[in-house]
Formats: sequence, structure tokens, C-alpha cells
Amino acid sequence: MSDANDVRASSKTDAVIHKQASPACPPNLADYDAVRAGFSWDAARARLDGLPDGGLNIAYEALDRHARGPRAGRTALRWLGLDGSRRALTYAELLSASCRFAHALATLGVQPGERVFVLTGRVVELYVAVLGAFRAGCTVCPLFSAFGPEPIATRMELGDARVLVTTSALYRRKVAGIRERLPGLRHVILTDGKGDEDDCHAWREVVERAPDAYTLVATRPEDIALLHFTSGTTGRPKGALHAHQAVVTHHLTGHYVLDLHDEDVFWCTADPGWVTGMSYGIIAPLTCGVTNVVVEAEFDAATWYGVLEQEQVSVWYTAPTAIRMLMKLGQEALADYDFKHLRFMASVGEPLNPEAVVWGNEAFGMPFHDNWWQTETGGIMIANYAALDVKPGSMGRPLPGIEAAIVARREDGGVDVIAEPDREGELALKKGWPSMMRDYLNEHERYERCFAGDWYLTGDLARQDADGYFWFVGRADDVIKSAGHLIGPFEVESALMEHPAVAEVGVIGIPDPVAGEQVKAFVALKPGHEPSLELNRALLGHARKRLGAAVAPKTIEFRTNLPKTRSGKIMRRLLKARELGLPEGDLSTLESDEQ
Ligand code: AMP
Repeated sequence: MSDANDVRASSKTDAVIHKQASPACPPNLADYDAVRAGFSWDAARARLDGLPDGGLNIAYEALDRHARGPRAGRTALRWLGLDGSRRALTYAELLSASCRFAHALATLGVQPGERVFVLTGRVVELYVAVLGAFRAGCTVCPLFSAFGPEPIATRMELGDARVLVTTSALYRRKVAGIRERLPGLRHVILTDGKGDEDDCHAWREVVERAPDAYTLVATRPEDIALLHFTSGTTGRPKGALHAHQAVVTHHLTGHYVLDLHDEDVFWCTADPGWVTGMSYGIIAPLTCGVTNVVVEAEFDAATWYGVLEQEQVSVWYTAPTAIRMLMKLGQEALADYDFKHLRFMASVGEPLNPEAVVWGNEAFGMPFHDNWWQTETGGIMIANYAALDVKPGSMGRPLPGIEAAIVARREDGGVDVIAEPDREGELALKKGWPSMMRDYLNEHERYERCFAGDWYLTGDLARQDADGYFWFVGRADDVIKSAGHLIGPFEVESALMEHPAVAEVGVIGIPDPVAGEQVKAFVALKPGHEPSLELNRALLGHARKRLGAAVAPKTIEFRTNLPKTRSGKIMRRLLKARELGLPEGDLSTLESDEQ
């Protein structure tokens, strides 16, 4: 642990954390303004190898270029299993494992461009499958293993899944029952399967026995590599499509934002079922050639502190919910650990309270560096950097190459940029960075609606101060962020509506001191059904079974009627305002009110 950086301010929330430069390890982005001024995406692209004739493939940048050079014998993946077992794969070994997987896909007749879904939890096979599928020119779609059968089925149907890589337990519990809804799903590969049960393949038969000689499919920069589902306020989940070219942003942000240096041991705590776990739990660290630590276990303070110390983690990328859980345990909980290797800490996914940034500085001798991005942006867009002062509570400044602004939408569909500092508006980014989503799957119009002229509109409200730092204000829509996971209220409402007792549902996020927000449902019952504790429990159980624990509501409240607009839409905004005792705002569209 190094000495805490200097915090100068009268109160914690106005604090500025001034950085002391470390002569031993100068930051990759030492002069933000100079790099920003001279930045070009072509130069960023030139940091990678590329393929002959202008091709680009994520797996090549993550593995081949290291495995064929001096990093071949370096540990690429250090995996810590739930049962205490460990595995380490060098760059050369991970390359050959991914070649086997790509070979297996070819033997099964899977074509480039087809979609390979992964639903496994953090097991080694996940990393092999993802990188192997990129090699084979397939599109990878990760699914969160805590999803219930319904979100899994919806996403696999929408995404026309051709191959699924999963575990026997997840298959039995979540996929077997929905398989008839997935006629296009040709192959299920069970990472721990014995072979040919339930019409599935066993990893050890089809992958481990495959040869590791495989010629990488020479993808073009614009070929689609990733499909990430994310939640909107209404309708089905949105499938954000990302091209191989996204690797330019992943690599650059690994270098500039996470400040990855050659000898680093990096740990990203996010699950690869979500975009952070893919972009920064797999792609960025490997393209930077560092050792990537993967922990199969879920959060537990002692385990996490143990990992940081024993694995000698030098760069740690985590999330506010986890930081708040650690804070609750106090500094005593980390007194017995030695974090002398830790050099840089970053956080993403939800607002990071200023107290948490300051606590990091006190407890670890360095602040958590908050950064902002979203599924659609594919990589970090706004960040606090190793060499810049940190204003606790601020998301930081735009990545070199990214132009960010606060805008106001006009009635004609355009936007006005708000140049004045400290004014609230919608956060917008000038389009054209490499990891910008290329489309929403089968919903081009929805994609088009995200743009006004040259600006991509993020749906987040923010402000920018006079020093150019951005501050998160809130979401412009009804989407809920709980424990870092984006949850679409519509998906939760739809699952509850399936229950025979339910007439109407409105789902909102309510503040939670640890998880940021918690999902709460307001339910009106059909005639003949009365509110009761049993029915409340039954509905919670139904939602949990259908949606999984990560998405299901934590509380349900019965109402005789819910507030609706003239067109019959439930006014979540009003439910929320009333729940939180906030002003009710414009009620001109309110047609029928709750009772
Ligand atoms: P996702 O697409 O699931 O990664 O969620 C993206 C959303 O998470 C953003 O649009 C924000 O609403 C929120 N978010 C991400 N990072 C931050 C941050 N550093 N501060 C506040 N909100 C964040």
C-alpha cells in the first residue's frame, strides 16, 4: 500500500484528490491534454497488428500476436475455481485451446457469421469458447448465468442462436425446458457433459479432441463480433451489435484508462455475461498482454481481499455495489492484508458515491477511478485517469478520441449543445468511435432513434463542470440499475403478467444503499383475487423462477388500480414519484389514477 494521495478540501464531496506521480511506473496517459490534442483513431489502430489486407480479428489481437512472440509463455488466464482449484493458461496454451474450439465449430458445420451463445458462469471453457468463436468468424453472445429461463429464451430466440455453450446443471435447470422454442439451435456443447445426453455434445469429445491447427477466419474490421443484449424501457431487450473493430477501443482504454503495463496482473470482477466482463474481463487485458485473473466465486469480502493480496493484483476493475459492501465492513476488515502490488483501482457500471472514492484513498492509498460507458458504446468513454486529479463523484473526462457534450433535445428531433458549465442535460457523444454499436439486431429504426445528426444520445442525464469533468445525474428513462445490472421494467412486468391473478403491473427502481436500486413491482389483481401475504410470496416466487434472482423484483405491493395515461400506459414515473415523495410533475396525460 502506498501513501494516500493528497485530498484537499473542506468536505469529502468537494474534495479533489491530487495525484502523486509514481516514478516507478509512469502512467500510460501522462499528459491528457497533449494526447487528446494529437489523437487519431488511425494511430490507435496502429497499436494493434491487424491481418493482411486490412483484416482485423479480436482473437488475433488478444492471442496470436502475443503467443507468436516473447509473451508466448506468459500466463494469459489465471483461473481460481470455486472449489479452491486453480488453472493457469499461457498465451500459447489459450491460443491452442481456442483453435480447438474453432475447429470443433467447423466440424459441426457452424458457419462464420452464425451466433454462438455462452451461458456458463466464469469457467475456463467460457474464455476458450469466446476466443475460439471470434477466430471462427462467429458472433458471440454472452448470457448471464443468473438469468432465469425466460430472459434466456427471449435472447436466444431474438438472436437466432445456432450454438450454445453451457454447463450440464444450467442446461438442465434453464435450457432443457425452453429448447423447443429454439428450432434454430443446432448444437449445445456442455462444458462438463459426458456426451450425447439430451442431444448435447460433450466439450471433452468435440473440443478437447479437436486438432489445434486452425486457420483463423480473416474477418474484416466491420464484421460483427459481438451481440450484447441490453434493456430498454419498453418492448423486448435490445441486441447491440459490435464489430471486430471494437477491439481498437478495448485495447486503447486498457492502455490509457486502466493503465495496463506489460507486467500487470489484472482483475476485472464483472461477469462476462455482461458487457464489462466481455470488454474488460476478456478482450482488453489480453490485447494488452497482461495476466488476467478470473475468480469463479461470487462476492465475499475475505475472498476478494485474499485474491488481491495472494494473486498480487496490480490493477483492479470493480463496481460500486461491491465497493459499498466492502466499505460497510470498514477498514478493520482489510487490516491483515498487504496490497503492496496494487497500483490502480477503477470502478464502473453505476454511480460511485464520492465517499467511496475517498474511502478507497484512505483504505488502499489510492482512489477508485470511476468511469462511464454503456453496452451501446462498447468501451469506456469517460474516465478518471492515473495522471489526472480525481474529483470524487465525477465520472471524469472523455477518452482521447471521444467528444462528449451535454445536449438538450429539440422538438424537431435535433439537439442543442449546452456549452455553459454545470447545466444539466442529456449526455451525448460524437459518433464514429470504433466500438460504437453498429445496429440493434433487427431493429434498425430503434437504432436510428439513438442519434441526432452526428450525436449519439446516451439516455443518461449529466452535467459538465468548468474543468471539463462530467457528473452523472440520472437516467432519462425508466430503466433500473441494480447491483450494476441493467433491468428493463417491461421484461419484469411481462413475467408478472403471466400469472393468472395479475391484471396490471408497474415496475420501478427504488433507491437502495448498497445495490444502488432495487426492483419494486406494483400489482393490481384481477377480480376474484384478493391481496394476501401468500399471493405476494407466490408472485415473488413466480418472478424469480421465470426471470432469475438478478432480474426479479425484491418487493411487490398490491394496488387496486395503477395510474395510466389515456392510451392505457402505466405511468411508472408517477408510481416512482409517489413512492419517493417527489413532485409528481406534469399530470396532463393521466387518465385513470391509482386507488
Ligand atoms: P450497461 O449498458 O448495462 O453497461 O449500463 C449502462 C448504464 O449504466 C449507463 O447508461 C448509466 O446509466 C450507468 N452507468 C455506467 N457507468 C456509470 C457511472 N460511472 N456512473 C453512473 N452511471 C453509470
